[in-house]
Amino acid sequence: MRRAVLAGLAVAIAACGSDREVSVPRAEPTSAASAPLGATAASTTAPTAAPVAGPPRPPILAYRIPYGAKRRAQMAAYSRRHYGDPEWRLDPRVIVQHWTSIASVRDTWRLFARNRRDPELGELPGTCAHFLVGRDGTIYQLVSERIRCRHAFGVNHVSLGIEHIGFSDAEVMRNRRQLAASLALTRWLACRYGIAIRDVLGHSETVRTRWYTELRPDRHTRSTHSDFRGGTMRRYRARLAGLRCA
Ligand SMILES: [Zn+2]
Repeated sequence: MRRAVLAGLAVAIAACGSDREVSVPRAEPTSAASAPLGATAASTTAPTAAPVAGPPRPPILAYRIPYGAKRRAQMAAYSRRHYGDPEWRLDPRVIVQHWTSIASVRDTWRLFARNRRDPELGELPGTCAHFLVGRDGTIYQLVSERIRCRHAFGVNHVSLGIEHIGFSDAEVMRNRRQLAASLALTRWLACRYGIAIRDVLGHSETVRTRWYTELRPDRHTRSTHSDFRGGTMRRYRARLAGLRCA
């Protein structure tokens, strides 16, 4: 049963942002009070960047996936192959928005935590994202902002990834609580790291940006992911317009 569920999850991440049907419907926590085991409000990220006056930090539950020395070495090796830069540390310059094609916070966490080769490219480390926004507006942090995650090829070396539980742009954009949390998180991160609003991107947009770097274009000539399309992101970025960081 467990194996069957994990196999389903592997299919799901291959479809991150696609319209293909995926199967992992499971109960999702409906509030922070019923957050997944291990999620805690008390142990959120220690500040690693200079404090910046601006939007308040939204509530964030720490729900970290394991990211030890082995996974960091795999990330550095991946960076060397794809960016010519053997580094696992991240200096965020871009924020990429995704939706999961997975129905629950727990199953998304499990998929990212297991660190298996992704079914799309067959590489290590496994895919992950830094933040996850639930349907109820709860924000989870899965990975430190100072560590690279594989969430959008061509920009993993410069970008933070924010996943949203959902199956379409419209579903996320219509969910007031989820969208409000997403915008609050993105505003806070943009100010914290000095990221321009034009560099807040949808996953589907990343291959057409100035940040895109890929040493193996034979494998990555176009985005295969449709999450957060250009039209959606123009509306999303419009909600960020007027952002004041100081
Ligand atoms: Zn995506």
